[in-house]
Amino acid sequence: MFDGYRMLPDKVLITDHNGTVVDIADTADAGDDVKTVAGILSPGFINCHCHLELSHMKGVIEEHTGLLKFVNQIVSKRYAHPEAIPAAIESAELAMVKNGIVAVGDICNTTDTLFQKTKGHLYYHNFVEVIGFEPVQAQQHFDSYRAIYDDYCRHFDAQQVSLTPHAPYSVSTPLWKLLAAFPGNGLLSIHNQETEDETEWFLNGTGGFKALYERLQLNEVPVVPEGRTSLQTYGNYLPQGQRLLFIHNVFTTAEDIRYAQDRFPEASWCLCANANYYITNRLPDIPMLQGAGIRLVLGTDSLASNYSLSIWDEILRIRQHYPQIPVEQMLSWATINGAKALQIQDQYGSFEKGKTPGVVQIVNDTINRLV
Ligand SMILES: [Zn+2]
Repeated sequence: MFDGYRMLPDKVLITDHNGTVVDIADTADAGDDVKTVAGILSPGFINCHCHLELSHMKGVIEEHTGLLKFVNQIVSKRYAHPEAIPAAIESAELAMVKNGIVAVGDICNTTDTLFQKTKGHLYYHNFVEVIGFEPVQAQQHFDSYRAIYDDYCRHFDAQQVSLTPHAPYSVSTPLWKLLAAFPGNGLLSIHNQETEDETEWFLNGTGGFKALYERLQLNEVPVVPEGRTSLQTYGNYLPQGQRLLFIHNVFTTAEDIRYAQDRFPEASWCLCANANYYITNRLPDIPMLQGAGIRLVLGTDSLASNYSLSIWDEILRIRQHYPQIPVEQMLSWATINGAKALQIQDQYGSFEKGKTPGVVQIVNDTINRLV
């Protein structure tokens, strides 16, 4: 049994009929009515980064194109078959349930997923994602996404909704300032340092984003390069101590981590290994991140850049590249760390008395949902 923190040999999980944890007992004290299962018993998984609304794009974009081409294709192809969107959302959510996922940090550019989320099959934190390149249009960009934010707030507790920046290169500086001042933003998520072009722009004002901004014929660039990495640039726009989920972190350095540890000690760092493999065939330096003493969590990203929405498949991908990382450690990223990142550790992420975290069996690399 893995309890969210460590492997516990010779223990028995006791739950009530609703799946609420009553106790973890020694085998000798557990009585007769004990069911033995093969493999590992784990709390339900937390998927800290998904785009459920892109589920209809499975297999649409070819692999290993690089991020700029990938994003370009998302923008141009996401509305090609609008009639396919609802059924794809429904079946992708069902797959997450079957794959042992109990809670999701989900990115929303639209309200397309609301009809499914309000059925209550999974816990969601809805990150309504803001994109806006042109600085003079910042207020306009903010207002249009604010309307979507308000739609989510009509169906969810305000604590489960944020107005969040897309990426350092796609949010103009005045738009950043509007987001930083928005009172609903207790928890933010950002696609961070996913591509080398991002670092090139922020350090030198060169690379793929320079070309993109020229193509878009912007009056002004979104963010003026200051000779520091993206994280160390936008980090200064945000309040000290902001709770954050940094997503991807492929080009994050040890110095970026030191900066973030000082300014955002409650931040979580989300790995989306399959999406990185799909888009660029390059993973973050996970052993470096692991050694830095930061809170690592896992995400699937969307079916536009993944083969499945399965946290266990993310663990398998990481194990393939970094076999030295113990599964026990990755399981804590998938459970208690993810729950802390989404601020739901009172109910999810571990087998502790009073929680209803879901119960998952992992056997021969397949997942069985027991509760
Ligand atoms: Zn993403």
